[in-house]
Amino acid sequence: MYKIICCLLLLSTGACSQGPNKTNSKKAAMSTNQNKYYSTTSNEKLVLPDSVWKQVLSPEVYQIAREKGTERPFTSAFENSKEVGTFHCAACGNPLFKSTAKFESGCGWPSFFEPITKSSILYIPDNTHGMQRTEVECGKCKAHLGHVFEDGPPPTGLRYCINGVVLSLEK
Ligand SMILES: [Zn+2]
Repeated sequence: MYKIICCLLLLSTGACSQGPNKTNSKKAAMSTNQNKYYSTTSNEKLVLPDSVWKQVLSPEVYQIAREKGTERPFTSAFENSKEVGTFHCAACGNPLFKSTAKFESGCGWPSFFEPITKSSILYIPDNTHGMQRTEVECGKCKAHLGHVFEDGPPPTGLRYCINGVVLSLEK
């Protein structure tokens, strides 16, 4: 009897660990449609109070973009995707990275070696968690995207380690 209970527990936890990814990406896609501030053509700076962001972003995007959260590693569909297009900020639509600048870093998050333009990204020193890192934010709406590290491939030697939740791929 004990063995059967153990098996059941294993089965149910295994199923749970696979579940959230699918729902996350669906919610993120839905929120983009309802977000009237999302524009892939306007590059005017976008400053909105958090109360407004909370209304137009899905909880997953809000938590990372506005509260500097981090998605669990190896959960983003973009991590190993080879889809061709432009990755935009999921909060405001600002073009951030081209798929041609994407590489497989194996670090658990979508990784790029360069942004589309210098001004598409903001760089902020981040000394939290006992580390000296450089945070990267969206140059248009200041959404937290991830961090940049100096262990990337040529030609830049940089690795932009980005939360897939805050990326929206336009093909
Ligand atoms: Zn943005």
